[in-house]
Amino acid sequence: MEQTILERFSAISPLIGNTPLLEIAFTYHGELRKVYAKAEYYNLTGSIKDRVAHYILKKAYETGSIAPGDTIAEATSGNTGISFSAIGRYLGHPVKIYMPDWMSRERINLMESFGAKVRLVSHEEGGFLGSIKMTEEYAQKEGAFLPCQFSNEDNTAVHEETTGAEIVKQLSSLGLTADGFVAGVGTGGTVMGITRALRKANPGCAAFPLEPSNSPTLSTGYKVGKHRIYGISDEFIPDILKMNEMTKIVSVDDSDAICMARLLSETLGIGVGVSSGANFLGCVLAQEHLGKDAVVATVFADDNKKYLSTDYAKPLDIQDGMLSKNICLTGVRVIR
Ligand code: PMP
Repeated sequence: MEQTILERFSAISPLIGNTPLLEIAFTYHGELRKVYAKAEYYNLTGSIKDRVAHYILKKAYETGSIAPGDTIAEATSGNTGISFSAIGRYLGHPVKIYMPDWMSRERINLMESFGAKVRLVSHEEGGFLGSIKMTEEYAQKEGAFLPCQFSNEDNTAVHEETTGAEIVKQLSSLGLTADGFVAGVGTGGTVMGITRALRKANPGCAAFPLEPSNSPTLSTGYKVGKHRIYGISDEFIPDILKMNEMTKIVSVDDSDAICMARLLSETLGIGVGVSSGANFLGCVLAQEHLGKDAVVATVFADDNKKYLSTDYAKPLDIQDGMLSKNICLTGVRVIR
């Protein structure tokens, strides 16, 4: 019997969300600490963005803004495109992805393997902003559903209702509430939505949006540099990021983030992407601000498999002055 669209959404939903929370124990300058990280690589295609694609498409069906067979067109630095490719194709939609051409090869291969058409956009064609413009032009000419992840409030709502609510429940099973939350900002959906959920349990929970120190777009409002923390700092401040709800921007060097991601992999077997390494370091900086025993949470947005053709796979090179130099990972406990 053929499934209806709504049945297809329900059929796939056990593969999205309800991810484990990792309590990671470590020392920083010899001092014992803990950080809590949501293992988002447990989702369907291996990233946090499966939650977003599933939620946005379900809402779009409920409101009638998408119809069966409509093309889905999105601009993305990777994970969102992979998620819309997999879930969009699963629902029977053609999927067209516009992506800057400097993202890792694995991302393109993954989207194509899920049946999407990928259009790479060079620096000269406008990079990320060019990708967004081309998506809009394509929709105008050909007709398409545009998820618009950078301005769609559903991208925040899904993290408030699911990711954040799950963290609240998992921490409360340990008798804890979060004192702070850290997340690298791409669209800002993660840091906005999760912070809103955590503040329902602890209104004083601090929010730390994270940016690469070598591309400080959030703190300068305009400055864009080259960096290797794929998936964050996409050249502009996104609409759904409300800086007035944030406590303090934290900045992390991209080499340090790569080293930290590698340490998690080499020491604990937690193979995560570069933004996860950055988020871990961001938690250490948040504890420098809040106190070393502060309960600080974050997300590990994806796994390391999309980074094997990048500097992530080069030999570990931890330099003096890096935060990761003074971190010694000691153990992990899993909270389901
Ligand atoms: N890390 C990675 C690996 C990502 O792909 C993204 C999303 N582009 C983020 C972090 C940032 O998440 P958000 O878009 O919710 O700010």
